[in-house]
Amino acid sequence: MPLTVRSRRKRSTRIIVTLLSGLLPVVLGCAILYMQAERTLQQSARQTAEEALRQFELMLDNTAQAAHELLPLAGKTCEDVKLALREQVTRRPFVRSTNLVWDDNLYCSSLFGDFKEAVNSGDYHKGKLWLMNGNPVTPNTALLVYRLSDGRGGALTTLDGYHLSNILRLIGRQTLLLLQVGDNWLSADGTVHQGTPPALPVAQSMLVSPRYAFSVSAGFPEGETWRYMANQYPPLFSLLIFFGVVSGAIGHIVQKRSTSPSHEMLRALEAGEFIPYFQPVVHGDSKKWSGTEVLMRWNHPKEGLVRPDLFIPFAEHSGLIVPMTRALMQQTAALLGPQSSSFAAPFHIGINITASHCHDLELVEDCRQFLATFIPGSVSLVLELTERELIEPTDITHQLFEQLHSLGVKIAIDDFGTGHSSLGYLRQFNVDFLKIDQSFVAMIGIDALSRHILDTIIELSAKLDLGIVAEGVETQAQAEYLTAHHVNFMQGYLFGKPMPAADFISALSHH
Ligand code: C2E
Ligand code: CA
Ligand code: CA
Repeated sequence: MPLTVRSRRKRSTRIIVTLLSGLLPVVLGCAILYMQAERTLQQSARQTAEEALRQFELMLDNTAQAAHELLPLAGKTCEDVKLALREQVTRRPFVRSTNLVWDDNLYCSSLFGDFKEAVNSGDYHKGKLWLMNGNPVTPNTALLVYRLSDGRGGALTTLDGYHLSNILRLIGRQTLLLLQVGDNWLSADGTVHQGTPPALPVAQSMLVSPRYAFSVSAGFPEGETWRYMANQYPPLFSLLIFFGVVSGAIGHIVQKRSTSPSHEMLRALEAGEFIPYFQPVVHGDSKKWSGTEVLMRWNHPKEGLVRPDLFIPFAEHSGLIVPMTRALMQQTAALLGPQSSSFAAPFHIGINITASHCHDLELVEDCRQFLATFIPGSVSLVLELTERELIEPTDITHQLFEQLHSLGVKIAIDDFGTGHSSLGYLRQFNVDFLKIDQSFVAMIGIDALSRHILDTIIELSAKLDLGIVAEGVETQAQAEYLTAHHVNFMQGYLFGKPMPAADFISALSHH
């Protein structure tokens, strides 16, 4: 069926819509997966930071306990306390060295015993913690010093950076972890840096210890979200692609369905696919070609030549019949106009019109342009209006038929005998011809009642002074009968089938 075939002109739009409907679930799905991956990484960074914080606090607890035990000894001579200092180092796994301070002077150390070094409390973050990049004993090795002071005395206990960087490296292997103490920070490679630590590009989480003066930052390197998705979600990606294909296919099918008949016909109209076929109308006596009826055909790119009864109802319904008829008249004028010099007497050209043509006066202008293409007086334009679709007499229709008549256009009632037009109707619209429906012609010599109706129509038209055309004449017997009854014109397969313009024009020269 031609009316379900899709438009070619909108193919690019259709492809775009299909692609979009296919891409939509994929893009949306990827966005959701991306957010999910970010959330997972955020949780993981936070858990890592919490775990590291807990470990650092445990180590510092160890170091702080040593300082608490030693503080009461501050002020005593080094000789008296050095064993106590060494005992703490031995007993506590995270204490590397212990020192006592008096009046901001480190005077006794677990390693050297008697010692002398000034202590600057400003070096310690919040007076408590100092992340150093080594000391004279172990230069360039991270060291965390815990300071406890009370009045003139103080205790300093140190924690080896080796333990700290181990934690940074081992907890959350995929995670970047940093330990920050005041202005200094330690990276997983064990190096102490000064200044603000770098921001961690993905899912950064920073936790401040509520008990000691340090903080921990965890996060991931640039592009980790995508890497994570690529590692974790391949099955989901396959699912998304499947959904994309299904959705694209649905989009494609829905569009295919939504291409309405009127869209398809509009496309065909613009593509010039509606073309005229010409069927000869012959003189009742001489059987000479005296005119033609223009019959529309749809030259469909895929379906081939389509019969009018398959698409004219759609065209009438959508109102497209008006521009379609206009195009048909223009083509007919262009094809037959150049032949008009060879027409001996006015050549009848029958055009089928519908009730939709009678809503306004546009038809008058179409007819005027049509007639202007021919040598004046060489053609007689006959508009055929089917009896089954009679029009209401209104101001507009009266004006229309008056103006058409004054242009010299004639009116024929098509398929006469199948509807029920009254005599009054025929007069009101100033009808010129009756076209007897082919069903009556077919019954000549077969059905007495039909023949009787035929005779009545012929008589009636003679009384009303109307021209008469018999349609569907297929046999010699029918033609003879009609001639004997003085029918003016005949049309039918006996004289010629509807044919393309080229065939009609070449045949015309022989008749
Ligand atoms: P119609 O106006 O009654 O046209 C006559 C139909 O009878 C044509 O069919 C024609 O091919 C067919 N016919 C002619 N001689 C014979 C014959 O000897 N035997 C038989 N069996 N048939 C014959 P077609 O071309 O298929 O057109 C069918 C109908 O479609 C037309 O009936 C007309 O109502 C409509 N139509 C065709 N072209 C147009 C158009 O341009 N505008 C409008 N509004 N309707 C059109
Ligand atoms: Ca007709
Ligand atoms: Ca007819």
